[in-house]
Amino acid sequence: MNYVQTVLENLKKQNPNEPEFHQAATEILSTIAPVVEKHPEYEAAGLLERFVEPERVIMFRVPWVDDSGRVRVNKGYRVQFNSAIGPYKGGLRFHPSVNLSIIKFLGLEQILKNSLTGLPIGGGKGGADFDPKGKSDREVMAFCQSFMTELYRHIGADTDVPAGDVGVGGREIGYLFGQYKRIRDEHVGVLTGRGISYGGSLARKEATGYGLVYITEEALNACGDSFKGKTVIISGSGNVAIYACEKAQSLGAKVVAMYDSDGYVYDPEGIRLDIIKEIKEVKRGRIKEYAAKVKSAKYSDGCKGIWTIPCDIALPCAIQNEIDAESANALVKNGVKCVAEGANMPSTLEAIDIFQKSGVIFLPAKAANAGGVATSALEMAQSSGRLFWTFEEVDKKLKSIMINIYHNIDSAANEYGCKGNYVLGANIAGFLKVAEAMMAHGVV
Ligand code: NDP
Repeated sequence: MNYVQTVLENLKKQNPNEPEFHQAATEILSTIAPVVEKHPEYEAAGLLERFVEPERVIMFRVPWVDDSGRVRVNKGYRVQFNSAIGPYKGGLRFHPSVNLSIIKFLGLEQILKNSLTGLPIGGGKGGADFDPKGKSDREVMAFCQSFMTELYRHIGADTDVPAGDVGVGGREIGYLFGQYKRIRDEHVGVLTGRGISYGGSLARKEATGYGLVYITEEALNACGDSFKGKTVIISGSGNVAIYACEKAQSLGAKVVAMYDSDGYVYDPEGIRLDIIKEIKEVKRGRIKEYAAKVKSAKYSDGCKGIWTIPCDIALPCAIQNEIDAESANALVKNGVKCVAEGANMPSTLEAIDIFQKSGVIFLPAKAANAGGVATSALEMAQSSGRLFWTFEEVDKKLKSIMINIYHNIDSAANEYGCKGNYVLGANIAGFLKVAEAMMAHGVV
């Protein structure tokens, strides 16, 4: 067995019952093998063993009181995975499915994603198995305050800077920041995705979705194509999905379907984003309500059916493993030309294989959704410089970061003889910078 395979086998043995972590590690390690072969010094320095082991894992109790006076307890996590190129950076996810495996897969992916942005940020991720859905604002506040009452000890503007993710939007970041400031008596850039009135950056809310469309447009342009006139499916109807839809529509695409965890809406006339925003951002409602408001739309229960709708471009923007082999085959059969991942690891390993073998342009999450964390790093830069950039300035920087990422992953794929394999390109381009920094730091 070679070095990479040995590390992967050991990882599976030492971390049993962590399927999502195994999946992410398999995807990464299997593609960086040619780099590791070129650099025998990595094995001598135990670099891969250190790369796949988080620097620190923090797990804690989060007690809070619900509106009926009952004491509730959730599990909180922060995985500080790798700080070789900068302070730990990565979102917090509040969702009932959260466990150590999910936080570790997200953290591992985050290391390479953050490296690809070209900005000085290390990788981390955190969250809790708390479900904000259906909770009152007071309950969400009580939970966030309790969560931060432990987390504050481990984070800091130059140490670890969390942001939002699934279930953690502007409201949650506000409560988390308020509690941090109260405990530490510091108004600093310790969280990103903050409101504009207290240190946030313009265009952060839009950044992941816009960035996804910018990099996809660049990949399409490279083949003489574009979003204009294309039929697009977007899964999810949260932060990433909404702003991917907005930007794709502005480039002339027709988005025909979106979903939430209950079911999907198909609107052959093109999704009315103002109505989706009203339902999701203002009322925190269910996507089913869209079909009641728009005559041309049809609602179906369950999510999987969305991938059977014919489209040119699919942008999965909800959750891990939402596209399995069956859904990938359905997309390919219906002629999909490009799949770009807005969510983290939304395609299974089998689905990726099907896309790549069918000649579909496939942009993996760590490149395609890096716009969010890149703009978080721009928020950090504004915080530490006490600056406030305009929307246009931030958006321009975001666009140029996404275009650079595309060219870096494309060049890395070409250099290693795998033209068009952006999974390999992204993993190699991201890994090389982290490996160089880790080698420079010695065995730490
Ligand atoms: P949100 O919480 O705003 O939205 C998540 C969306 O996914 C909702 O529509 C939700 O539906 C849906 N969803 C959640 N679980 C499931 C499920 N099991 N099946 C079907 N749909 C589901 O999260 P974000 O938009 O912020 O994040 C979406 C994805 O993008 C995640 O993978 C996240 O890690 C990734 N990402 C986010 C970034 C950001 O800046 N926000 C940055 C980079 C990546 P419902 O409301 O019914 O739960």
